[in-house]
Amino acid sequence: MLLPVLREEVARYAKKMYANQLVQATQGNLSARDPESGFVCITPSGADYELITAEDIVVVDEHGNVLEGKWKPSVETPLHTLVLRRRQDIHCVMHTHSPYATAFGVVYQSFPMVLAESALCLGGDVPIAPYRMSGTPEFAALIADTLGNNSAVIWGNHGAMVVGVNLPLTFSTAHALEDSAKVYAIAKQLGTPVLLPQGEVAKLHTFWVNNYGQKAREQ
Ligand SMILES: [Zn+2]
Repeated sequence: MLLPVLREEVARYAKKMYANQLVQATQGNLSARDPESGFVCITPSGADYELITAEDIVVVDEHGNVLEGKWKPSVETPLHTLVLRRRQDIHCVMHTHSPYATAFGVVYQSFPMVLAESALCLGGDVPIAPYRMSGTPEFAALIADTLGNNSAVIWGNHGAMVVGVNLPLTFSTAHALEDSAKVYAIAKQLGTPVLLPQGEVAKLHTFWVNNYGQKAREQ
């Protein structure tokens, strides 16, 4: 079997993504690139996250051509491989439907940085892409363009996507995105949220970039 260890890790984090309610049912998708071969391990289309194992993970090349796998790769494979080709600084892509981040993409409002954890990996407001039907090359280009050098992008009227240097950091970034959106939404109902100072956000993000080797967002 090609890349058995990385496939096992993708299956494990796909289960965590589901168990932590970043996705429901068969929604969302997750990929990780093997830095040596450049091959990408990606969740299959219609994945059953409760049962998913390494054998269910599909291996594709950098253009999304299937190299090994018993299922069809995620319908969003063209987007994953486009982002991975453009962003050599990261190796993982996770698409979630986490509800608070998604809600901000329904009202098309970004949310400011109110938590240190989010400021570290996100570094500022998360860009929101306009709604388009997903799964097409045009959609992939739109999302990759809107992501730019950021760690996350919200898909209008759909969900969110985060990228990272490895699976644990990508998973924690997806969590930080959802936590930030959720806490800001709750705080707004309680009173007037006090934002982290811009200088502090920049300092935290610089710390993250220097420690993990991920590109800094464009300010
Ligand atoms: Zn989706």
